This record gives sequence, structure tokens and C-alpha cells, in this order.
Amino acid sequence: MQSKNRTLKIGILEIQGAFLEHKISLLAAAKELSDDVTVDVIGVRNVSHITSDMVGLIIPGGESTAISLFLRRNDMEEPLKNWVKDKDHVTWGTCAGMILLSKVTENQKKGGQYSLEALDVVVARNHFGRQVNSFEGDLNITDPELLSIQTGNEPFRGVFIRAPAISRTTNPSVKILACASTEDKPEAVIVGCRQGNVLATAFHPELTEDFRWHLYFLRMIQQR
Ligand code: GLN
Repeated sequence: MQSKNRTLKIGILEIQGAFLEHKISLLAAAKELSDDVTVDVIGVRNVSHITSDMVGLIIPGGESTAISLFLRRNDMEEPLKNWVKDKDHVTWGTCAGMILLSKVTENQKKGGQYSLEALDVVVARNHFGRQVNSFEGDLNITDPELLSIQTGNEPFRGVFIRAPAISRTTNPSVKILACASTEDKPEAVIVGCRQGNVLATAFHPELTEDFRWHLYFLRMIQQR
């Protein structure tokens, strides 16, 4: 007889960035799911960790050039790309993770960033400026599903660390979830989007107490 309990195996790429914070937020969000669902978080550090029974993957921030190099040196590029392509898998990239998911990168470093070619967008690295221009600001959420998540955290804030932004989308199936602007960059740009099973945010929800984005990601996994 099939067990009623369902385990969602979710990986977090543990190369750079706030992978521990992502794990904490993911487990906090998982408490909002029904009792029969268990979330099992695993660290993805080499090719043997990229398995087909893993249903979700978070690619944290960091330095997209360094992450690219690590993936290349460890023969993880192609297996990861194929894993992400699978319709049964849900991927979320934050900051550098968003850069890696995007098909086209502006302001690329020499040698270039590797692309998982999962999002039909043009992403601009360091859109908001350098490290000193890192900031925390309100997000303009344009997605009703996100807005309907009630966890007592109001409003939606975004922590931006040398963050990218999406300059444009190149396919109508890319759904815009969040926009932001600053005094220096007053024109609102896309900082959160989704295309099918792929989610991308330019900011770092894992560095706040707000786990609504993690819950949204878990729901994407459940709805796939
Ligand atoms: N600017 C970094 C890059 O290009 C991303 C910064 C971040 O992930 N916090 O990779």
C-alpha cells in the first residue's frame, strides 16, 4: 500500500552564498504545508547529488563567475542543465542564481557566465551598482498568488546585494512577479519572475524573516 506521507526532496547548491539561510527559510515555510508533506533538504556539491528524484533546487547568490567556474571544473554544467529542463523539476535562482538561469547576460565578466538557459530574459549584472550600492527596499509585487500568502510579514521587502535586474523578457510566457526601483535607478525594473517551473529573484529572501518566497517555491513544486 502506498504511504500517505509525501517527501519532497529539495536540493540547495552549496558552492557559495547563503545556502544555510535558504535551508532555514525553506524548513520554516514547509511548516505551512499540510502534515502529510515532509521536506528533505540536501546539499548539492557534486554531480552525484543531481538526481532525478530531487524535485526542487535552489541556486543561491554569490558570484556567478565563480559558481560557473566551479560547475565547469566539476562537470556539473550539462547534468544541471538537463535536470532543470525536466518538467518534473522546479528551480529557483536568487541573485547570482538568477544570472545563471537567464539565457542572455548583459555586463558579463570576461570569460563569461555559464547559462542554464532556462529563462527567456535578458539579465543585467550589477544593475543597481557596486557592493556599496547594496540596499534593502520595498518590492512592488505584481502577482496575486504571492500577494495572497498571509504569514504576517508586511510589506514585501527585498535585500539587494550587488544585485542584477531583468532588462527585458523575450518570451510572453515569462510572468513578472516583482519590480523595484531606487533613487539612483528610478525606472522600475523586473526583480522577480517565473517561467513555467523556473523562479528567479534578484534579491535575497533568505536573508529576511519573510519566508513567503520559499512558500511560493514549495507550492510551485506541489503544483507541478
Ligand atoms: N553581482 C553578482 C554576480 O554577478 C551577484 C551578487 C549576488 O549574488 N549577491 O554574480
